This record gives sequence, structure tokens and C-alpha cells, in this order.
Amino acid sequence: MRKLIVANYKMNGDKKLFKQIVKKINKIKLRDTKVVLCPPFIYLNEFKIKNNIVSIGSQDITNDENSKSTGQISAKMLLEHDVKYVIVGHSERRKIGENDKLINQKINVCLNNFLMPIICVGEEKKTDKLDIVLSQIKNALDSINKNFVPIIAYEPVWSIGTGKLPSINRIDKMIDMIKSFLKTIGYNESLVLYGGSVGLDNYKEIIKSKIDGLLLGGVSLRIDKFIKILKGIDNE
Ligand code: PEP
Repeated sequence: MRKLIVANYKMNGDKKLFKQIVKKINKIKLRDTKVVLCPPFIYLNEFKIKNNIVSIGSQDITNDENSKSTGQISAKMLLEHDVKYVIVGHSERRKIGENDKLINQKINVCLNNFLMPIICVGEEKKTDKLDIVLSQIKNALDSINKNFVPIIAYEPVWSIGTGKLPSINRIDKMIDMIKSFLKTIGYNESLVLYGGSVGLDNYKEIIKSKIDGLLLGGVSLRIDKFIKILKGIDNE
């Protein structure tokens, strides 16, 4: 099945690195894998993509396009830069105060502007009850149109950037739980990605689970490793 691979560069990279990444990514040929690259806003302009399997995503969006918002970025600005996807509710943004209500408003702004939100959810600690993830999803999608296919990135916070991974069983259990919950609230179709400490050494194992794709942080900056992962997944 076709996999969706999202690269979150976070607050990393510079013009030189992104030029190299774009050059290499423009040449890559994949049969059955779709790629979304999410640079910091200030580098969106460097991402002149000439490869129809690759799209641009942003790492955030404003929740209120009508307010006078110093420092915020609107949907209109993202669309002008060919952005198609938006990461919403990443745990690193939740950590600095982004709550479910704000995330829900951002998802609304995305959908009103034909931008596809990638909705990040995940428990803080390995020992946390997993239904916290379902309540994050429920609140994120509160009053949101049922006519779209939600993309959920399941990212256990304890796994992001730590080298610690859940077992395949746990990932599969979460994917099943998330998909069946989404059905109960009216979304029959959905894509569920996994994110957290995936690299060249472990992606083959993770990809055996029921996931529809991956959200990659650290490894996405290592272009040669990133391309090896894309090709490896594409050949599965
Ligand atoms: C992330 O930040 O969403 C992420 C998955 O990071 P990493 O791959 O570095 O754990």
C-alpha cells in the first residue's frame, strides 16, 4: 500500500543544506511512496519542487486569519508557497502552550483553505493511559467536516528524539484503536502515521506494522539516510 512519509525539519537546517536536499529530492524516483517536506517557514522559498511525488508542508499555521497577528503565518501565505500540508499540534508546540481548542481552530483554517492538516497526537509517558490519544483526536476534530480523510501522526512524546521506540505490537494496537475510534465519530477513512526515533537502522521493522506512513524528525536532515529510507520503503 502506498506510504506517506513526512519530513519535519523543525528549527533546523540552513539555505545551504536545503539547497542540497531539494536538488537530491527533485531527482528521486519512487513508485509507490509520497513525500511531504516541512521546512521552517523562512526557508519555504528554497523548496522549488519539480517532482510530482513530493509536496511541501508547513510546521504550523495561524488559527485566526482575521486578527492582527505579529509573527503569525496565514493560510494565504502558505498557499502562495505551494504548501499543501500543515503539521498541526506537534508535541513541541503543545509543550509551549498549544491546547486542543487552538489545534481544532487551526485544523478548521487548514480545511477552509484546502490545506491538509497532519494532526499530531501522542501520550507523554510510556506509562500513560492510551485513551489520552483518543481524547486529543476527539477534541482536534470537534465539529470538523466528516468529508475529509484525516491524517493522524501518532507520536508518543517519550519516543521523539530519544531513540526509544514502542514495540510493533503497541504501534499496531494504537493504529487499530485510532482507526476504529475515527470510524465511531464519522471518519470511515483515515491515514495513521507513526513518528518518533525512526532511523535507517529501524525503519524496516516499523514499516512492518499497520502504519500508513511515517513522520521523520532528526533523520530527515541527513539527506543520504533519508533517501535510503524512502527507497527502502518504496521497494517493500
Ligand atoms: C518529530 O519531531 O516529530 C519526530 C518524529 O522526531 P524524531 O524522528 O527525531 O524522533
